[in-house]
Amino acid sequence: MTTPRITKRSDGTLSVPDHVNIPFIIGDGIGPDIWRASVRVFDAAVIASYGGRRRINWIEVLAGEKAFNLTGEWLPQETLDTLHNHLVGIKGPLTTPIGGGIRSLNVAIRKALDLYVCQRPTRWFKGVPSPVKHPEYVDMVVFRENTEDIYTGIEFSAGSADGDHLKDFLERDLAVDFNFTADTALGIKTVSENGSKRLVRAAIEYAIRHRLPSVTLVHKGNIMKYTEGAFKNWGYELAEADFTDYTYTWAQWEKMKASNGEKHANAALVAAQNEGKIIVKDVIADNFLQQILLNPKDYSVIATLNLNGDYISDALAAIVGGIGIAPGANINYRTGHAVFEATHGTAPRFADTDSMNPSSVILSGVMMLEYIGWNEAAAAIVTALKETILQKTVTIDFFNHMEGGKLLRTSEFASAIIDKI
Ligand code: NAD
Repeated sequence: MTTPRITKRSDGTLSVPDHVNIPFIIGDGIGPDIWRASVRVFDAAVIASYGGRRRINWIEVLAGEKAFNLTGEWLPQETLDTLHNHLVGIKGPLTTPIGGGIRSLNVAIRKALDLYVCQRPTRWFKGVPSPVKHPEYVDMVVFRENTEDIYTGIEFSAGSADGDHLKDFLERDLAVDFNFTADTALGIKTVSENGSKRLVRAAIEYAIRHRLPSVTLVHKGNIMKYTEGAFKNWGYELAEADFTDYTYTWAQWEKMKASNGEKHANAALVAAQNEGKIIVKDVIADNFLQQILLNPKDYSVIATLNLNGDYISDALAAIVGGIGIAPGANINYRTGHAVFEATHGTAPRFADTDSMNPSSVILSGVMMLEYIGWNEAAAAIVTALKETILQKTVTIDFFNHMEGGKLLRTSEFASAIIDKI
């Protein structure tokens, strides 16, 4: 019997069997609590939407503490092979082992499957307590580059032989003018044209598919010219070369301003907006962190490098209620490989308390159902989640900031959603 697996067709679409195997990693810390709650919601939505015609067979694959305790390995090769063969998977948060060969299990999974897009949508659900007056103005999707930047882990500790060797090389061979001392540690930031362009391409294609008004390149190119600055330039280059009919860029505006004056450049910008073109613009990362609070309506799709994306997605999540309701996906849009996961970590202090918010994993599952085209099940979950929040039946993270709310455990919150599906 063949395994009911998802495959990618030659035309780029996914072939999804009605009874499909999907691997999952239960996760560490609060992972098991929120996974057990979420999977009940997914199954209920699939049954309610397709009445048994469609079904997900969940296949557990090991990673993290559970893998280590059972096999002695943090990330067994079999797990990577299963995720690779099944194309689409979902995971709970994983602890980062201290010491040992693997720096971060999440980074290792992203690297092994070359999941170059970390896609994180942020939107507000009515009733969720927020620290701002108009959380509904935030409706953004962050495309965070997932394979490069200082996250590649090329680091040398202060006083290490390799670190000293590199310092010598930088000083002697490259005449780097920096006062390296014995206690200086080093880290290397990698940003490539291919890595930047494939990420920005995914962001622009998303904006085209969803008819969104802008793509903003967020960077620190004012300081790091050849890495972050190059990311911005490559992004503009790509938009102008490959998406001429769909986009108008601020780089084009600058060029027109220089040649024909600001009035003409502004007229061209307005004309492009009226034609429904996507405006590709850029903002420096520190400014962006104030813009999302002051002028969030100006932004829809965000394309940024790895570290910026990490900070930005947590800051955005805080505006709409916190990382308890922040979903995400790691995707390779070329091969179709995708691993869906919450934005947050293992929150170890709350492990096995059945108290944390499972919405992050539930909404990651919604992204997964949409990715495989099971839109009815995805929509059923979102409707039921919205209603559950509107009724003020919530987990502790929302309850603490809500007047007149009813506190539910993780498992009870899932049951409240299922009752409404
Ligand atoms: P964290 O994201 O685990 O938790 C920070 C805080 O956010 C928690 O103390 C809690 O108050 C809140 N929170 C997190 N999830 C929540 C939920 N579902 N509902 C309500 N509140 C929630 O960050 P941390 O404590 O810095 O990291 C703990 C571990 O997780 C580390 O080992 C880290 O490396 C790892 N981590 C893993 C991932 C991943 O698997 N993708 C991501 C980030 C961190």
